[in-house]
Amino acid sequence: MQNTPIIQLPEKVKYIIDTIMEAGYEAYAVGGCIRDSILGREPDDWDITTSASPHQVKELFPRTLDTGLKHGTVTVMMDKEGFEVTTYRIDGEYEDGRHPKEVTFTSNLIEDLKRRDFTINAMAYNEKNGLIDVFEGMEDIQRKVIRCVGSPMERFTEDALRMMRAVRFSAQLGYEIEDKTAEAIKALAPNLSKISAERIQVELVKLVTSPNPDFLKIAYETGITAVILPEFDVCMETMQNNPHHCYSVGEHTLKAMKAVSPDKHLRFALLFHDIGKPAKKTTDEKGIDHFYGHPVLSEEMTGQILHRLKFDNDTIYTVKKLVLYHDYETEQTPKSVRRAMMKIGEDIFPLLFEVKYGDIAAQSEYKREKKLEKLQAVKEIYETVIKQQQCVSLKTLAVTGRDLMEQADMVPGKELGEMLKELLELVVEEPSLNEKEVLLSKARELLEK
Ligand code: ATP
Ligand code: MG
Repeated sequence: MQNTPIIQLPEKVKYIIDTIMEAGYEAYAVGGCIRDSILGREPDDWDITTSASPHQVKELFPRTLDTGLKHGTVTVMMDKEGFEVTTYRIDGEYEDGRHPKEVTFTSNLIEDLKRRDFTINAMAYNEKNGLIDVFEGMEDIQRKVIRCVGSPMERFTEDALRMMRAVRFSAQLGYEIEDKTAEAIKALAPNLSKISAERIQVELVKLVTSPNPDFLKIAYETGITAVILPEFDVCMETMQNNPHHCYSVGEHTLKAMKAVSPDKHLRFALLFHDIGKPAKKTTDEKGIDHFYGHPVLSEEMTGQILHRLKFDNDTIYTVKKLVLYHDYETEQTPKSVRRAMMKIGEDIFPLLFEVKYGDIAAQSEYKREKKLEKLQAVKEIYETVIKQQQCVSLKTLAVTGRDLMEQADMVPGKELGEMLKELLELVVEEPSLNEKEVLLSKARELLEK
C-alpha cells in the first residue's frame, strides 16, 4: 500500500479537473472521497480543490452555482449533478456554522491540506500527480488510527466539533484514536458546549448509526458525553443488581445498540430506552435493584434530549414511542397482538420486535431463551394478522364517520369519534365483525342504549 493506490475518478470529476488544469491551474479531488476510495467504500460526494479563484472557476464552466463564494466554494453543474469546487484556503477560527469565520485563499495545496482535520482526510489526488499525502494519511489508514493534522490541541481549539468527528470516524471505520489526539479531546471536550446543536446532531447520528455504535463509550471516556449527553454518563455510573442484568445501565445500552440494525430510529430508541432508569432505581430488602416506571420517564427524557439536539419531529415521535413501549407485554394470542397494534400504532408496533431483541441480547442469560421464544411467537402471530389483513385501526374499519352520519343519523362531534373507537374495539376483539352492515347495526344498537 506504500505506492499510490489506484483511485478511479468518476468521468465528470475527471472532466472538471482536466478542464481546470488545461486552463493552467491546479486541481485535485480531496478529502473524504479520497479516503473512501482507498478504503474501497463508495464516496457520497466528490470534493475538488483548486488553485483557481472562484471567479476563475466560474469562467471555465457554463453552469455554476455560488454555493459559498466567501469561502471559495462554487458548485459546478454537470447534467443534474453538482460538484463542489473550492479554492485552496487557509481557515480562520470556526464559528457555530459549518464554515470558518474568515478564510484566506492561497495558491499552495499543502496549505489547504493543513487546515483539514485528520490525516486520513487530508489527502488529494489527480491523475497527473498521483496521491498527495504529506501527513502520512496512508500509513494511518494501514495502522487504523485517527490522528490530527498537526497539533491536536491547536486543531481542537480552532474547531471543537472536530473532537466529535474523531470519535465518529473511529466508530465508522473501527479505528483507534491516536494517543495525543485522544489526550487533547480529554483536555478540551468542555469546549463542545460552544458548538451548535445542529452540528453536534449530525456527528452523533453518524456515530450512533455506524457499525460500532458502542464506540459512544469513547465519547464517554473522553468527556464528550458529559457535555452533549450527560444523562448517558449517569447511566454508565448506575449498576443493576438484578438477575436479568449483568451490566451497568450504560454498558447494557451500548450492547443493545450494537445488537440492532444501523437504522436511526432503532439505534436511538435503544440509546434512550433505559435513560430514565437511574432516577427510578430502588433496592429491595434482598438487595435486588428495580426500576419501576422507567419507560415513562425514559420517554419524557428522550423528548427533552432530542429537542435539545434539534432533531426533527418525525424522529422525536418515533423514537419516543419505541422507548415508551420497549417493555410492553403482548400475550401470545391474536387478540392480544391486535390490541397492542391498535394501542401502539400499526407503524410503530413491528419496529418493537427489533427493539426488544436488542434489549434481550444485552441482558444476562437468565431466561434469555424463553424471552426470545416468546418474542418469536408474537412475531409469527403478528405476521398472520398482517397476512389476513385484519383491521386494527380506523383506516381499515368497514364503516367511516360519513357512513354513521348518513345511515345511523349521527352528527359530527365527539360522540361520532367515540362510536368509531367503540366499533374498532369490537372488530379488534372479533375480526369477522368488520362488515359495513354488521357495524352499522351494532352502531344503531349502541345508540339505543
Ligand atoms: P463524510 O463521510 O461524513 O462525508 P467527510 O470526511 O467527507 O466525511 P465532510 O464533512 O464531507 O466529511 O468534509 C469533507 C472534508 O472537509 C473532510 O474530509 C476534511 O478534509 C474537511 N473537513 C470537514 N469538516 C472539517 C472540520 N470541521 N475541520 C477540518 N476539516 C474539515
Ligand atoms: Mg463528505
